[in-house]
Amino acid sequence: MKLSEIAAILREIGVSPVKSLGQNFLHDRNLAKWLVDQAAISPEDFIVEIGPGLGALTELALAKGARVSAIEKDKRLVQFLREKFQGDALEVLHGDALEFDTRMLYAQPKVKLLGNLPYYISSQLLIKFLEYPSPIYLWLFMLQKELARRLVATPATSDYGALTLLVQLHHRVEYLRTVPASVFLPKPEVDSALVRVTPRDPQEFPACNYKVFEELVRRGFSQRRKQVGKLIRHAVPKWEIAAAELGLNVKARAEELSLQQWIALTNYVAPIAPASSEAGQEESFSIVDEFDRVIGSSPRSQVHANNLLHRAVHLLIFNSAGEVFLQLRSRRKDRHPLLWDSSAAGHVNAGEEYDQAAARELREELGIQIPLENIAKLTASERTDCEFVSLYCGSHDANLRLNPDEIEAGQLFPPSIVDAWTKARPQDFAPAFLECWKIWRERNS
Ligand code: SAM
Repeated sequence: MKLSEIAAILREIGVSPVKSLGQNFLHDRNLAKWLVDQAAISPEDFIVEIGPGLGALTELALAKGARVSAIEKDKRLVQFLREKFQGDALEVLHGDALEFDTRMLYAQPKVKLLGNLPYYISSQLLIKFLEYPSPIYLWLFMLQKELARRLVATPATSDYGALTLLVQLHHRVEYLRTVPASVFLPKPEVDSALVRVTPRDPQEFPACNYKVFEELVRRGFSQRRKQVGKLIRHAVPKWEIAAAELGLNVKARAEELSLQQWIALTNYVAPIAPASSEAGQEESFSIVDEFDRVIGSSPRSQVHANNLLHRAVHLLIFNSAGEVFLQLRSRRKDRHPLLWDSSAAGHVNAGEEYDQAAARELREELGIQIPLENIAKLTASERTDCEFVSLYCGSHDANLRLNPDEIEAGQLFPPSIVDAWTKARPQDFAPAFLECWKIWRERNS
């Protein structure tokens, strides 16, 4: 869109840009084209655009054949966009992007996020849309240059801070280019920059407890000039010993610690138990015949290596709004790491009954004890990894205490989203969960 076009449209629709909504419209068409190209959009993509404005980026994303869902707060612009792109693969949502429910994106095959962000809320938007885990594959943001520099900062620089680490823990950020204020109408007071964000390979760094990581990092950077050991004394009372063990300078300030060192520090404060196989302990499971009669027991590795029939429990826990809690399996699991699964699930140990195993898994994985209803039994098959599965349901509203040894993350989902998601992306789920969900669905439709 050219400058004269933008000015003419604004006149025609009687809109003057609103500063409090961060309305600075991009009028350099070549730059807009280059910018959208950085998202490598294809017809399979589902684009979410934050703040489409007059559609400078929207029209280029649509031209690539993608479906676009654009969230715009200004009602006048929503009306303009709906008329302008009538008949195109565009849905314009009128609302505040900060309130957008990202969970519905899990049901889309490939989601990319695009946004020349309104600067007054860019940091909040970053935190919301860069949550982990996420259904988004790629993020392309136009931000104030200063904020972009904070995202890509390296240790021992003034831009390096809590935001850098909270974003970089799960994401890679590329600073693509600086964008001068002169390409916007009206001209903002500061230059901008384009950044591309992609998910980090979760196996790149050791797992750590995210809540503890965030708390340590925020405290550590709360007074930049102070030594980090003094600021996190509450969590690490014997800082000198910890620093020596982790190879850190005892007088270091927060900005001197790399991301890997912050992860190591988090794991020092809140260690994640080694997987049982790494710890040299091996559980023993009941093994059964084709009628689910116990015929003996065998160590875990033998059961899986020889495809022996065995037993497992799956639990689906719902809140009173009818949403089901799903867990993302820990990256350290030997089977199906980083796949979505039932609220809790696990094997039946040797000498244990299904009901006992269900109550134990609930306690161990989610930290709760509630009545459970046994709703079905699944026969062992390849799809259940040779497990006879007893399926339980329960209701719970208060907070869960997720066990980081087992669970990477978890979230509540309306069943309609799980239906669409399992259909669109079955590869995101542990196979036995898909079987359990099918059965739960048959009984609850
Ligand atoms: N994408 C357009 C462009 O590049 O020309 C406009 C970008 S302008 C910097 C930011 C846009 O975000 C404006 O259209 C503004 O109305 C919209 N906006 C502001 N606050 C918003 C919010 N909370 N949720 C959604 N859109 C918002």
